[in-house]
Amino acid sequence: MAKKFVVVVGGVISGVGKGIAAASIAKILTENGYKTTAIKIDPYINCDAGTLRPTEHGEVWVTSDGGEIDQDLGNYERFIGDEIPKINNITTGQIYQAVIEKERKGEFLGETVQFIPHIPNEIIRRIELASEHHEITVIEVGGTIGDYENIPYLFALKSLERKIGINSVCYVLITFLPVPNHVGEMKTKPTQQAIKLLSQHGIFPDIILCRAVKELDQVRKKKIEIYANIPADMVISAPDISTIYTCPLNFERENLGKKILNALDLNPKQKSNWSSWQQMVSRIINPSREVEIGIVCKYIEIGNYYLEDAYISVKQAIEHAGAGLDCKVKISWISANDLELSDEEVSQQLAGLNGIIVPGGFGTSGIEGKILAIQYARNNQIPYLGLCLGLQLAVVEFARNVVKLPEANTTEFKPESPHPMTVLLPSQVEIMKNSRYGATMRLGAYLANIKIGTLVHHLYQQYNRIEKDQKLISYLQSDPHQKFRLGVINNQSAYTQIIERHRHRYEINPQYINPIQQKGLQFSGYHQPLEESVPLMEFIELTDHPFFVATQAHPEFKSRLQDPAPLFMGFIQAAMKNHYEK
Ligand code: GLN
Repeated sequence: MAKKFVVVVGGVISGVGKGIAAASIAKILTENGYKTTAIKIDPYINCDAGTLRPTEHGEVWVTSDGGEIDQDLGNYERFIGDEIPKINNITTGQIYQAVIEKERKGEFLGETVQFIPHIPNEIIRRIELASEHHEITVIEVGGTIGDYENIPYLFALKSLERKIGINSVCYVLITFLPVPNHVGEMKTKPTQQAIKLLSQHGIFPDIILCRAVKELDQVRKKKIEIYANIPADMVISAPDISTIYTCPLNFERENLGKKILNALDLNPKQKSNWSSWQQMVSRIINPSREVEIGIVCKYIEIGNYYLEDAYISVKQAIEHAGAGLDCKVKISWISANDLELSDEEVSQQLAGLNGIIVPGGFGTSGIEGKILAIQYARNNQIPYLGLCLGLQLAVVEFARNVVKLPEANTTEFKPESPHPMTVLLPSQVEIMKNSRYGATMRLGAYLANIKIGTLVHHLYQQYNRIEKDQKLISYLQSDPHQKFRLGVINNQSAYTQIIERHRHRYEINPQYINPIQQKGLQFSGYHQPLEESVPLMEFIELTDHPFFVATQAHPEFKSRLQDPAPLFMGFIQAAMKNHYEK
C-alpha cells in the first residue's frame, strides 16, 4: 500500500490539545486496522527537549532508545500503545545540523546549499525515514499557523503532497473558538483567519476540529463551512472534556476515522472495538472510590499559574492505575520549598494524604522539603512511591535517620558530603568535566535484575510485565546497537528481569549498600552494565511498612490506560487500604 499521511496543524492559539487530537487520530486509525505511527515536529532550534525548562515546555519524555523528547510523543505512545522511537521527533536544530554536516562532508559538492530546496528535502527525508514501517503516519506540526518557525515544514509537507498525490495526504486543522465573557457568544472569526493563513501555504484543510468550552452549534458550523469551503460534516466539534481518553470516543461518534480514511482513499480494514477503552473511561468518569495522594515537587508554579504538565506522565500513570482499580485519585500538588519547615508543620501539611510521591527532579531547590516528606511517610506508615530522585532522596533520608549518618546527602546537592549516598560513574565524571550536558545522561530503556520474592517482583509478576518485557529483551538481544541496554543478565534462579526507562546521572553509592540493607531497607533490583564493575541499584523497598517502594527508573513512561504500571498499581492499592481500612 502507498504511504498515507495525516497532517495535524493548529490555528488561533497554542495549547488547544493538538497533541491529544493527533494521538486520538492515530489511535482511531490503529483501531481501523492500519499500522499507524505519529511524528512530532518541533520547530525550535534545540536538537532535542533534554535541556528545555520543564516549566516552559512541560515534561521531557524519554523513549526506549534514549531520546529526550517533547511530551507529545508520550501521548502518542499512551494512545497507540506502541513504542515510538526518537526518530519520530523532528526539530529545526536536527534538520539544520544534518544539512550542515552533509555540506561539510562534501555531499553537496558544487551546489549552493540553500533554504530551498535543501531544508525541505531534509525534512521530507526524515519524515520518510520515520514512516518507513507504517501504512499511515500522523504528523503533528508544532506551534501555531502564522509562526515564522513552521514555514519550512508547511513548505516541505506541500512538496511531499505533490510527490505522493493529494489523496495520500489529509490535512486536519485544529482551531479554538473563544466565548468572550462580555459577549457571551462563541466566535468563529479567529478560525476563519487561521484557515486564511493556512491557505497562504497552498494548504486547504480536509477536516477542521473545533476546540471550545462547549459543543459547536449548527449556526457556527455553517459559518465555518462557508468560509472554509468544506462540507459541514467535516467541521467537527471538540468541546472540553474531563479526561483526554474520551477524545477518540467523541471523535468516533462523529465518524472522524471514516472521514479521514475517505480523504485518503482508504476503507476501514476491520471493525473497531472500543469496549475495553470505554470501560476504563467510564471508571475514570464515574469511579466507585476515592483517595487523595500528594506529589511533592517543584516545577509547577509559573507566575500566577500552575503547570502540571511538568509531571504529565506521572499524572497519567496515576490516572491509569486509578482506572484499573476503579478509584478516583485526587492529587494534591505540594511545593517542596513550602515544606522546609519544622516536623510538626510538615505533619500538618501532609496530614490526611493516603499516599505520597516524590517524582524525578534536578537541582538543589526543595530537596530538604522532599526529604522531610519521605521521613513523614516512612514514620507514619503512609504509602510512598519514589521515582528516580525520589529513590535517591529516600536513601538519603534512611541513611540520616536510621543508619544515623546525619550528614548523608547526594553528591548532586552537596559534593563535599562526608557520606555521599549517590556518585557519578567515571563516564559521567568525564562528561561533566567537559560540560557536555545534552543527551548524555543514562537515558532510555535498561534491564533490571529483580530479586524473586520481593514486593517489587510480586507487583511486576502480578501485572504480567515480566512476560511482556521478555519480548523486549529478545528484541534488544538481536540489535547490536541497543544490546548494551541489557547489561549482564543474572541467570540465577533467585532473579528475574524487567525493563524500565531512565533519565538520570547519579547512581547509588555501592559503598553504602550493605550498611543500608543491614538496617532494613532492601535493594530489590539492580542493573549490571557491561563496561562498569559496579552494579547500579534500581529498586528499594521497606518490609515493615504498608508500601515504601522507590525506583531509579521512570515507570510512568511505560504506563498505559489498558496496561497500568505495576508500581503505580501497588501504590494506589496501598493508598486505598490506607483510606478504607484506617
Ligand atoms: N537529578 C538526579 C540525577 O540526575 C535525578 C534525576 C531524575 O529524577 N530524573 O541522577
